Amino acid sequence: MPPARPRHPRYQQVADRAEHTCEYCLAPEELSGKEFEVEHIIPRADGGSDDLDNLALACRRCNGAKLQARVGTDPDTGEEVSIFNPRTDDWDAYFEFVDLGAGRRIEIRGRNTIRRATAERLNMNAPHAARARWHWFTYYRLATRA
Ligand SMILES: [Zn+2]
Repeated sequence: MPPARPRHPRYQQVADRAEHTCEYCLAPEELSGKEFEVEHIIPRADGGSDDLDNLALACRRCNGAKLQARVGTDPDTGEEVSIFNPRTDDWDAYFEFVDLGAGRRIEIRGRNTIRRATAERLNMNAPHAARARWHWFTYYRLATRA
């Protein structure tokens, strides 16, 4: 096994602020079997800092898909736009969960071009991600937030 990445020094503050939820896809950290990652909204390579304003909690999936990206392409229009910023944008205004019913999949849909580009860039609706979301949504989110 490769050595574990060292924990970011601000992990605890970032994770507590996010209520231990991925700030992009809202997956609950405690169901992941692994601590989520501290993500730089503006990547360090582009001069992004370790200030709390530039940090977000992200699951491995979202962080791994976002990498250095700050923009994404709206699949409907081809327009390149800034992706969702968890520090300044309100998730509920940007995204919605859509239950695909019998497929036991829950997709995240963007409500406009920025949101669609983010969902696409972060590959939020890969089949196994949508299926895992159905499980945690069904058994966990509804139970804890009802
Ligand atoms: Zn995520």
